[in-house]
Amino acid sequence: MKQKSWISIVFSFAAQCRLKIILSVLCAIISVIAGLVPYLSVYQIITQFIGGAPIMETVWMWCWIGLGAYALRFVFYGISTTLSHISAYTILENIRLSLAQRLMKAPLGTVLGESVGKLKNVLVDRVETIELPLAHMIPECISNLLLPIAVFIYLVCVDWRMALSMLITVPIAFVAYAMMMKNFNQQYADYMESNNYVNGVIVEYVEGIEVIKAFNQSSTSYEKFAHAVESFKDYTLKWYQSTWKLMNFGSAVLPSTFLGTLPVGLLLYYNGTLTPQDLVICLILSLGIVGPLMNFTTYVNEMKTVEYAVHDVDKLLSVSELPDEKTDVRLTHYDIHLQEVAFSYDQTQENNVLSHISLDIPEGKFTALVGPSGGGKSTIARLIARFWDVSDGSITIGGTDIRKIPLSQLADTVSFVTQDNFLFNCSIKENIRLGNPQASDEEVFAAAKAACCDEFILNLEHGYDTMAGDAGNRLSGGEKQRISIARMILKNSPIVILDEATAFTDQENEEKIQRSIAALTKGKTLLVIAHRLSTIKNADQIIVLKEGEVQASGTHQELLAENSLYRDMWNAHIGAKNWSAGSKEGR
Ligand code: ADP
Repeated sequence: MKQKSWISIVFSFAAQCRLKIILSVLCAIISVIAGLVPYLSVYQIITQFIGGAPIMETVWMWCWIGLGAYALRFVFYGISTTLSHISAYTILENIRLSLAQRLMKAPLGTVLGESVGKLKNVLVDRVETIELPLAHMIPECISNLLLPIAVFIYLVCVDWRMALSMLITVPIAFVAYAMMMKNFNQQYADYMESNNYVNGVIVEYVEGIEVIKAFNQSSTSYEKFAHAVESFKDYTLKWYQSTWKLMNFGSAVLPSTFLGTLPVGLLLYYNGTLTPQDLVICLILSLGIVGPLMNFTTYVNEMKTVEYAVHDVDKLLSVSELPDEKTDVRLTHYDIHLQEVAFSYDQTQENNVLSHISLDIPEGKFTALVGPSGGGKSTIARLIARFWDVSDGSITIGGTDIRKIPLSQLADTVSFVTQDNFLFNCSIKENIRLGNPQASDEEVFAAAKAACCDEFILNLEHGYDTMAGDAGNRLSGGEKQRISIARMILKNSPIVILDEATAFTDQENEEKIQRSIAALTKGKTLLVIAHRLSTIKNADQIIVLKEGEVQASGTHQELLAENSLYRDMWNAHIGAKNWSAGSKEGR
């Protein structure tokens, strides 16, 4: 498939700021024209003096015109850059918002499949690299291109030979730059790959610092880190060394416009073709384009940076979306039914994690999913919450296929609490209120009490107003779990899924939480995945899952009597419990 051009991608995000961009371009053009006026003033003044009898009034007039135009040039340039900066930041904002929306709509697997380092790199750093060149490219590229063109046209009007002589260095420099740029695309791609690798290693080093310290791996991890940084330095130096001779040659030759204009101008002057004032103005103007020409060459590099960043963004924006319905459906009951569900994370039949599972999770009942680790319990829970779509078969809620239920309605219908409880860096009260943004403080406190977190929250320095820290890092695993359960209680949705939601909670609190969950979820559809079997032994229905298939289902007593896997798991659990607690409970 042909890649879209980066400029068209950038401008697809510029809908709200088109007018500003156009105005910025116009101001840049006015600024360039105003920048030429002082040269005209100098020409007029020289003409006055060369004529032998300068009229001082005219000289002064041209001085003021030149000065005024010089000031105007900066005013319009300022307006142009301000507008282009606003446009660039608007484009950046739109890109980031689109990326965030796209990640929300993509299947969770696609998002989790990407490394945090890479996502952060694209969303923050790569998008940021677009701003500066984008903001400056509009006004500066225009003036840097327009000015030499305008000067060239002016020189053609004076004498076409002067115009051509001004450009004598361009083909020489062009050959040098062309040789330098021969492998630019490949080298830039390698550079970006190297850059991404260093980024990944740095993020891994920082994120894994706890494990590195715990396993005393600081020297080996540091070695990997140092090696990555060092090889990146070697790579960039090597690239620089391979180009610096040609680059310096080009940079030295290109601005030397005098090489052509001085001898040709003098020759034409001695021939009597060129007046002295025309000679002077041609020399001054040919010097005036040196800066813009040099600036223009730096944009080649910057444009490449933008091009790569924009294509990275586009790649992330092209990830597939979960198909979503627009209109809410009327759900009258909330039983869940899995019909012949098959699923694999990589969408291949060979790696099916679930194979043709059919089961009923009735409304108003407590259903538990148990089985050896890796059997597919969490996968079933995630499929019901539609983090992924099933590969085959269907899941219905109240008789409606969940693919026909809008994602936002499904999110309102299902509460899902997992082991990984992410807390945002806002107060604990607000973290709980995420379950129901309309809830009053009293309702938040009541939910926290029911989830057994009221006590520890009140012991914190600022109680409910204590900040949770980044990703809740000020709280223990068990505390975070209880806050997530409070969130779920506050959400009060008709379907509740708890995936090892109390695994980190101590036994005393776990029993309390179980009791309040049982009370609060009366009449709801409750699905619990639990490792500690004692917490689910009162379930109305227990489903035993092994290697992606349903082995058996029934009550605790029925399974103990009929299913050897369940019996073994129960005995192992009781043994472990007795061993850890030294108690006789559960026999
Ligand atoms: P359980 O909850 O019973 O321990 P899971 O549903 O978590 O089992 O996992 C079932 C299988 O799916 C395991 O083999 C696991 O390695 C695999 N798996 C889980 N999550 C992913 C994922 N995001 N990508 C690929 N494979 C996964």
